[in-house]
Amino acid sequence: MTAVLKVENLVKTFGGVKAVAGVSFEVAPGELKALIGPNGAGKSTCFNMLMGQLKPTSGKVYLNGENITGRPPRDIWRRGVGRTFQITGTYQSMTVAENVQMALMSHHRKLFAVRPYAYKLYRDEALALLDVVGMADQADRACAILAYGDLKRLELAIALANEPTLLLMDEPTAGMAPRERINLMQLTADIVRDRGVSVLFTEHDMDVVFAHAHHIMVLNRGELIADGTASEVRNNPQVQEVYLGGGTLYEQETADA
Ligand code: ADP
Ligand code: MG
Repeated sequence: MTAVLKVENLVKTFGGVKAVAGVSFEVAPGELKALIGPNGAGKSTCFNMLMGQLKPTSGKVYLNGENITGRPPRDIWRRGVGRTFQITGTYQSMTVAENVQMALMSHHRKLFAVRPYAYKLYRDEALALLDVVGMADQADRACAILAYGDLKRLELAIALANEPTLLLMDEPTAGMAPRERINLMQLTADIVRDRGVSVLFTEHDMDVVFAHAHHIMVLNRGELIADGTASEVRNNPQVQEVYLGGGTLYEQETADA
């Protein structure tokens, strides 16, 4: 089966610094895969190259077999790569449903629609997506008054409006309480299972990573030092060395507030 995402020897240098130093991996259809590693390991740089924000210094990125290396973000998004941001990108002045409707209009290339008319478009589809993320009851609330965790779920609905085959999530649970984190990742895992979407995500909370990821990759100083199942990664001596001191890679903590 063709990998949804295939990365070959990806490199990004900033001045003399190799932020990503020759990374190769694949994400399979319907896979929930984590990319972990210490601060500064190169995770966000990697994501930004996959999303088109940064042009790779060298290397190749294939989406469903098609070479998308160096393509602009819009192009990559059009080909079905959804993303959620570390900082939420919703329109504060609009309602929850309107934000999803905007995303649906964009997906269906109807962004020329004028405002009063636009708000009638894709209302039912938007409500269906909000239902998927458990936000249907908040459809008509203003985004400005949403709780942080709810904003993150809205972001996920907005990303799904594009019918992605691959979702890229760079620290989706940053700034969330432990209970919210677990809920968001459970929701993501459900979406992967129910919709067959592939997800690549970065995450600091090892409980979340080990509870949900099918496979885990570990990045250190721009290089992948592991790519495997939870137990393979846990038992990898190089990984243990990198994470020694933190200890969170081995101990399953009770992550609840
Ligand atoms: P992570 O997301 O794993 O914490 P980053 O990808 O943000 O790591 O950073 C990897 C390395 O690249 C760091 O040393 C960082 O300082 C450097 N870096 C990231 N972005 C830039 C940039 N735009 N210009 C220069 N150096 C950068
Ligand atoms: Mg980062």
